[in-house]
Amino acid sequence: MRARTVEWQVCGVCNYDCTYCIQSPKTRVGHPSEDDVTRFLDFFAALPGSWEVKMTGGEPFAFPAFLERIVPGLIERTTHTVSVLTNLSAPPAQLARFAALTRGRLGIVSASIHLEHVEIDAFVDKARAFRAAIDPSASMVINAVLVPGRLAEVEQARAAIAGAGLRFFPQVMKLGGGTFAYEEGDREKVQELVGIRPNPRTANTAPSYRGRTCWTGVDYFVLTQRGDAFRCRTARRFDEGFLGNVLQGSFGLAAGPSPCTYDICPCTVPANRGMIEGLA
Ligand code: SF4
Ligand code: SF4
Repeated sequence: MRARTVEWQVCGVCNYDCTYCIQSPKTRVGHPSEDDVTRFLDFFAALPGSWEVKMTGGEPFAFPAFLERIVPGLIERTTHTVSVLTNLSAPPAQLARFAALTRGRLGIVSASIHLEHVEIDAFVDKARAFRAAIDPSASMVINAVLVPGRLAEVEQARAAIAGAGLRFFPQVMKLGGGTFAYEEGDREKVQELVGIRPNPRTANTAPSYRGRTCWTGVDYFVLTQRGDAFRCRTARRFDEGFLGNVLQGSFGLAAGPSPCTYDICPCTVPANRGMIEGLA
């Protein structure tokens, strides 16, 4: 069953600078103005139906309005479910406030462990405390990019994450619109980390779904910090699948599904929300 979802880039700014970030440092900047935050909230208040609003960045918590206005505004003014993708670097007090604000309305917390910036044990302790503080009915998953040359560390992280009772979600590294070609020494480890038969619920291997009927644009869209809406991330990359701008009042969903025309589906959210037909 399809679960209507919008992935909203609430800001470009991030407090980390990961070497493998799919966003270039040039684009990893900026955030909406005060007035635009109001317009975004007006848009979500008027968006018909029940949606999961999954907020991404940059790093959402690095934009003060995220916790001060956006999360409270979505909770007070809409009935949508709230989810977040974060590097979990926010101070404990901010995480506690997020947990309190979203109680009863939280869908998924996707927390990414970035080994260039954090110690495994400290991150896992923080993640475990956050898991205990958030809405018990929400899901939480810990993402880790399979960075070449650092896979032994990723394996250590996986063990610590599993040991803390948290869900580990490996992601193959993306590069220049495709996936990274791992060297032979790393290939075996990658295989072991993603499992023999990875699927979108267990790992992000960025497969191709070219030709499959896809409901993105109808029941799913991505929204940039400037208000531009696109069918999906890959469509946005190619400047296709434009659905209008929500700040300018020109947004409109597609009338129906259409076949995927791309060689990579870099994000598992459309697959895991039932947008792509024919997946097991
Ligand atoms: S935390 Fe995420 S958005 Fe920020 S630099 Fe790292 S990969 Fe990019
Ligand atoms: S890349 Fe993925 S989300 Fe985008 S149209 Fe293709 S299958 Fe759908």
